[in-house]
Amino acid sequence: MKRLLVTGGCGFIGSNFIRLVMKERPGYSVVNLDKLSYSGNPENLRDLAQNTRYTFVKGDICDKKLVAKVMSRVDAVVHFAAETHVDRSIAGADEFLKTNILGTASLLEASRACGIKRFVHMSTDEVYGSLAKGKADEEHRLEPNSPYSASKAGGDLLVRSFRVTHKHPAMIIRCTNNYGPYQFPEKVIPLFVTNLLEGKTVPLYGQGRNRRDWIFVEDACRAVLLVLEKGKPGEIYNVGSDHERSNLQLTRAILKELGRGEDMIRRVADRPGHDFRYALNFNKLRKLGFKPRWSFEEGLRTTVGWYVANEWWWLPLKKDKFTVK
Ligand code: NAD
Repeated sequence: MKRLLVTGGCGFIGSNFIRLVMKERPGYSVVNLDKLSYSGNPENLRDLAQNTRYTFVKGDICDKKLVAKVMSRVDAVVHFAAETHVDRSIAGADEFLKTNILGTASLLEASRACGIKRFVHMSTDEVYGSLAKGKADEEHRLEPNSPYSASKAGGDLLVRSFRVTHKHPAMIIRCTNNYGPYQFPEKVIPLFVTNLLEGKTVPLYGQGRNRRDWIFVEDACRAVLLVLEKGKPGEIYNVGSDHERSNLQLTRAILKELGRGEDMIRRVADRPGHDFRYALNFNKLRKLGFKPRWSFEEGLRTTVGWYVANEWWWLPLKKDKFTVK
């Protein structure tokens, strides 16, 4: 039996990851440490409430005493907990610095003290900054441009320092944009889909020319599991999908899925400092055995279908937790 500590498991990727582990790794148990910030939702894992291999602990990764206690019960760590929304980081960076840097430090220290053998730190392609052309491999320089990506890069550098200084067996994953079920509806795909389901327009930044690579969340979670089980301690692994699309192409694909026209697009002022393009070379992960299973079209159809079928999940979030632009 492997005992995993998953941080941020009530969020989008964390909850999909825990569900995958529960389904495909009967020998694993999971402790989920999550403070339930605005984007953390216990409903994301309500199907696991009775599962004896799953335990939820409500708490902050910055709480060193609690982290030390939880850490003593596990063999490995998968660290997802973070403040994640770029626009919120532009409005105010404090929470990003606390959770993404100090919280990561607290987990690294406790895991070192407990002699944890495998530690996966989930980071983002955004730490490489905007790429006019080509793809970033794991050696690419770090050039974060938003307070969010700067705080994630700060976490990455701490992981690096623990590897070099303490021989800590931590690994870093730098992943491209995820989409799929249970993504908080402030992020572009669930925001656009649910707006259209509510009969509202979709706010497209600028001309919609910015480009992202989109990975279906199940593929990203399989990559995390692969790195957890087969990755080499101390290494960095990019996770991509080779499904690069402009925001306008993405918007058109969503409109098509829902049978709506371009009159539903509302142009809004561009995000300050908006990175034009992210793109990853993930050959290193391919060599470890990774191959995305989902095409963009199939992933988007499944995602749209999920939001259509699960209004109970997203409608209260849109009403209670944030104001849609
Ligand atoms: P999310 O916002 O949906 O979930 C974050 C979770 O972390 C929430 O459950 C929240 O309650 C929890 N959390 C926040 N602060 C905490 C704290 N101090 N202590 C304990 N729990 C806390 O985010 P997500 O989209 O699932 O992203 C997960 C991770 O993956 C993040 O580290 C993010 O930077 C990274 N990532 C995300 C994407 C993406 O496209 N979503 C892409 C690349 C990397």
